[in-house]
Amino acid sequence: MISFNETGLNPTLLRAIEELGYETPTPIQEQTIPLLLTTPGDVIAFAQTGTGKTAAFGLPVIQQIDSSSPVTQALILCPTRELCLQITNDLVNFAKYQSGIRVVPVYGGASINEQIKQLERGAQVVVATPGRAVDLIQRKRLKLNHVSWLVLDEADEMLSMGFKDDLDTILSGTPDTRQTLLFSATMPAEMMAIANKYMCQPFEISVGKKNQGADNVSHEYFLVHARNRYEALKRIADVNPKIYGIVFCRTRAEAKEVADNLIRDGYNADALHGDLSQEQRDIVMNRFRIRHLQLLVATDVAARGLDVNDLSHVINYNLPDDPEIYIHRSGRTGRAGKKGISISIIHQKEKGKLKDAERMLGKKIEYKPVPSGKDICEKQLFNLVDKMENVEVDSARIDQFLPVIYKKLEWLSREDLIKRFVSVEFNHFLDSYKNAADLNIEVGGKADYESRSARNGKNDFNGKADRFAKSGRGKRVAYTRFFMNLGKKDQVDKRSIIDLINQYMPGKSVEIGQIEVLKSFSFVEIDNRFERDIQRAFSRVQYKGKRIGLESARPKGF
Ligand code: AMP
Repeated sequence: MISFNETGLNPTLLRAIEELGYETPTPIQEQTIPLLLTTPGDVIAFAQTGTGKTAAFGLPVIQQIDSSSPVTQALILCPTRELCLQITNDLVNFAKYQSGIRVVPVYGGASINEQIKQLERGAQVVVATPGRAVDLIQRKRLKLNHVSWLVLDEADEMLSMGFKDDLDTILSGTPDTRQTLLFSATMPAEMMAIANKYMCQPFEISVGKKNQGADNVSHEYFLVHARNRYEALKRIADVNPKIYGIVFCRTRAEAKEVADNLIRDGYNADALHGDLSQEQRDIVMNRFRIRHLQLLVATDVAARGLDVNDLSHVINYNLPDDPEIYIHRSGRTGRAGKKGISISIIHQKEKGKLKDAERMLGKKIEYKPVPSGKDICEKQLFNLVDKMENVEVDSARIDQFLPVIYKKLEWLSREDLIKRFVSVEFNHFLDSYKNAADLNIEVGGKADYESRSARNGKNDFNGKADRFAKSGRGKRVAYTRFFMNLGKKDQVDKRSIIDLINQYMPGKSVEIGQIEVLKSFSFVEIDNRFERDIQRAFSRVQYKGKRIGLESARPKGF
């Protein structure tokens, strides 16, 4: 890995990016910056949003701009107004100490006269959406005869949004001597044609494989009847109380309907689609960006301008017809080194589309059973307990009220008190999932067998397993899920839990399934043949002075 100092960037740019908190170049920057600073050849770079591609092209371009001349020397084309503003903002930040450089954004949906005024004041760098660029070119306000760098950012998006003719017009109007830089997450055939026509022996740079989803995204699908899609979506939200994700719908009407239903049912959600005005869209996007909304229900087109790096989930309410769109959607999670989950809710007839997506993705989309009422209640309950443990208590303010409250509650035991406080928040979950139906489709075959076992836990060897799964050694194992009273705050992690089990169950080959370590407790799946042995073995064990509690996590009555 090289440092920014070794890329060839000048001290003013190094100072600017240091202030932005960039310490080391991202892989795309590492490859692109030295290349663009030393060679004039064309470049195709496969990179998704979130990989640092704006700096990858922005820094070397800014460094080479002649600030003594006001003519437009770099034109950056991108698909949406939001991206246009974001790129402009990044470039202005990069050029902070490089005096005399003006970066002007031009995009549709805003006053063209104001943009013309800005261009007339001189703009060495213009960031544009294709439609508005063509308009300004035709009005002879945007002049391309001195363009030395032409950047096509998110080129695949521009094509899928129907900007092909505009791109042709722009590309053919710039000097042949220009350096063309094309950034794209995928390489559709239409884009290959553009590259062949307008680029000269481009050098290819790839971070991650072409057409492939990010590696830290896990892909899952639920199989339900079409009429149960919405119920399945609610369960996804309920079993992930901290979810922060986009729900992709095929049409505006569907996005609106799903969002309306979620809002009606008390979820923190809103819709983003083309029927909203630009101002309404900005408001919704902003609320989502600052996490005032947990779920954004969107159409593909409307979600394009949205750049959020830390989504926990992408949910395909319907699978798109084009597998490339699936890749795009799922690439919106698992960014910036974080893990993400892409979940598709599908019905029988969509299995073909699922296969297409798998083929393009180059990996399997795993079948998962729709969470049961029990799964959801358990998750919500422990989330609530976790929240209660971590809540900040403002003693200065609350203490004055406490004596009266203590007095009023004095007749309740500790256990009763806990039960009641938890029930205040939790009763609605118990009520809504009291007679919750199983939404999974019974299709037969392995996935279905696993899902049934996982759901009802009754048809196992001795009637007690919570889940069946293959162990690391390929053996089919029935697991019991245990609650353990050690969590991150006791400095345990998955490794130390495995070590503890091996230490106290010596000589036994106990299969250990999934382990989930939370702040103050953990869940551990253990081969259910050892359910009693393990409880016995841990009955008097201490970890760092704390007595270990281990019990089946299965709530009574489920
Ligand atoms: P981009 O892919 O250009 O949209 O960049 C994604 C995010 O990563 C932006 O918020 C950038 O400011 C940030 N970023 C880009 N390069 C670096 C770097 N080398 N170190 C830290 N953050 C970066």
